[in-house]
Amino acid sequence: MRMCNISTVLNDAGNKYINGYKPRQNVGANVYPMIEAAIKRFEPSQISPVDKSTKEGLMHRICKLCGILPHDVRKGSTAPMSFFEDVANSLGLSPLGEETKHGLAKHIVKSLDQKWDKSCYSDGGTVTQIALERIEKGLRLSGRQETNKKQSVHFPTEIPFDKIQLSIDRIDRDGPAPHKASHTYDVVVNDRSYPPPAVVAFALEEMGHQIVSPGTIRAGKGTRAFKLLADAGFEPVSKHTVPTDDDEILENRVNDLLLNSDLLDEAFTGSDTPPDKSEKTASSYKRNAGVIATILRLAGGTCELCLAAAPFRRPDGHLYLEVHHVQFLAEGGLDNTKNAVALCPNCHCRCHYSEETQPLADRLYRQVNRLKKPSSGF
Ligand SMILES: [Zn+2]
Ligand SMILES: [Zn+2]
Repeated sequence: MRMCNISTVLNDAGNKYINGYKPRQNVGANVYPMIEAAIKRFEPSQISPVDKSTKEGLMHRICKLCGILPHDVRKGSTAPMSFFEDVANSLGLSPLGEETKHGLAKHIVKSLDQKWDKSCYSDGGTVTQIALERIEKGLRLSGRQETNKKQSVHFPTEIPFDKIQLSIDRIDRDGPAPHKASHTYDVVVNDRSYPPPAVVAFALEEMGHQIVSPGTIRAGKGTRAFKLLADAGFEPVSKHTVPTDDDEILENRVNDLLLNSDLLDEAFTGSDTPPDKSEKTASSYKRNAGVIATILRLAGGTCELCLAAAPFRRPDGHLYLEVHHVQFLAEGGLDNTKNAVALCPNCHCRCHYSEETQPLADRLYRQVNRLKKPSSGF
């Protein structure tokens, strides 16, 4: 029996898969139930041994206390956004306007009557082990018991477009209940947002599958549900890449994106239409955190004008550069990767306030390949 087939079944059931054997996409319909039956003969603890004292162990227990599917996290890496999203949903917390990981963790800790302070997060938006310990404590104090949640959804190899359309019609008509609104990702159709697990659950019902209870479909990049949606042309988009005119939210989102590569598609480029004007201040625009994070990643700590290394590091360790629009937004420039560069603070000021702004812009167009000079100049 192929190890990667076993990994697939383990993964579907919400377990860690076997080291070095990535789950395969297509496991034969005859093989799947055999593996599943074999796995059921083992205790969960034999499949997924968890070190009680680690972040990983804490997350595992929190999932059990919330009655949600276990989340897998690599040793030493941070808890994924989807973990906090599932916990928030299981507690019945409604989405906040501010949907960063840090904001969501704070929301959860406070809703459990625990203290949220400086020790709960580190600079740059990482949620600490102390915050997780307070979540666990709050859950236990509220009388919750650990339960093992098993994924009972059998995903088909594809969901037809029209079934997803029917599911979306149903949400338009009756709302997503009993499924919750989403904190991190949405399926966006005609500028309206739909929670991905509800879209998949209702589409499965349209296909004649049994009714899927809330919390049984794992959402997030790389999950089966997201792949099925993407294959049908309904790829969920990260709320992080929705333009905002709130500087603090923008900064938090950029931090989140820099720390959580899973939240941003590598091919992300931003919008090809002019950004919306801010409703708050006449002179500013709604900015996309995805563009900033992508540009900073592409620049890799080197100023794209003078080619010198960034002058210092941010508190989270990332090199400090500023993202600049070569054609200014106020002059019709687009907020996308074809019009944005990462600059050191000196070069950034030169590009705005020196006597040579145009020659500098021309130099950037020559120097940075991804830039696209607007055809109709000013
Ligand atoms: Zn520079
Ligand atoms: Zn600028």
